[in-house]
Amino acid sequence: MCPKMGMGMGMGESESSSQMPRLNESPDSGILNERVLILVFESLNWDIHTLCRTAAVNRRLRALAKRLLWRELCLYRAPRMMSTLTEGSQSSRMIGGWNALAKLLFFCGGCESTRHFRLSQPSPGHFVESSRFSKTSGRSFLAKNCRGDVLYVSDPCEHPTGDKQDDVGIYRGVFRAFMKSRTREFLIRRQVEFEAGVKCPYCGARVWSMTAARLIPRKSAARRLGSKDGALEYFVCLNGHLHGTCWLVPLSSDEEAEEEDDDDGDIVGSDDEEYDEDADGGSCNNYGDFQVRNGRISI
Ligand SMILES: [Zn+2]
Ligand SMILES: [Zn+2]
Repeated sequence: MCPKMGMGMGMGESESSSQMPRLNESPDSGILNERVLILVFESLNWDIHTLCRTAAVNRRLRALAKRLLWRELCLYRAPRMMSTLTEGSQSSRMIGGWNALAKLLFFCGGCESTRHFRLSQPSPGHFVESSRFSKTSGRSFLAKNCRGDVLYVSDPCEHPTGDKQDDVGIYRGVFRAFMKSRTREFLIRRQVEFEAGVKCPYCGARVWSMTAARLIPRKSAARRLGSKDGALEYFVCLNGHLHGTCWLVPLSSDEEAEEEDDDDGDIVGSDDEEYDEDADGGSCNNYGDFQVRNGRISI
């Protein structure tokens, strides 16, 4: 089974370590040189599963992950996206925490029914094999008067449903400097209320429904997602994380060719070169050239 993504990432887990494997916490067992640990993770291509397990070992490693390792993972696995999000200052704090951002990169949050998007049954979250995040794509999700904001959005993850022909598409994203964004300013100025019963799957904060806020440019967002016009919903949390759902329409080959032309006219200075931030979460069972045995990593 996959480890739960919340494990060791500061969301909802108990502080009790009674169920976790314990290391000998004598002074000799400390991490003498954090640089060595970073080099080990580099050699593992910053594998998300290994980092989750490491952060779950004990409080010391959990604190180290929170202070250092989640940030290093984000910078290593999505360097261009992180450079944009941090505005070049990679030592800066990340709103909502680097652990939440790491989770957003590697974990599809699944979905359940919400006020403006009805499902007959919920769909569980999961680690993703790979995701593309693009700020060009993000522009399609910004209302006209908020186009100056920088928003990265992933391609939709397809979730089959039992009772409908169409699949549900689940996508996620993150704003740069959300506290200074036009989107947040608009939400605050218009006194849009938080959505009851919905929390951010990445940081646990309260969220605004962008449908309720009337901030969804339905045509461009639906087109970008490959969705029925209007059949979508997304939320933005207090920390600028986005998560959303849509009904995906199976595309004919003609429509796919049209989509590749990217001629929707909503993109200023189209730079699809940005479509390169692969975040390969790997398979739950495939640990490549290393193994985890009894909580120890052997390369
Ligand atoms: Zn998914
Ligand atoms: Zn959040």
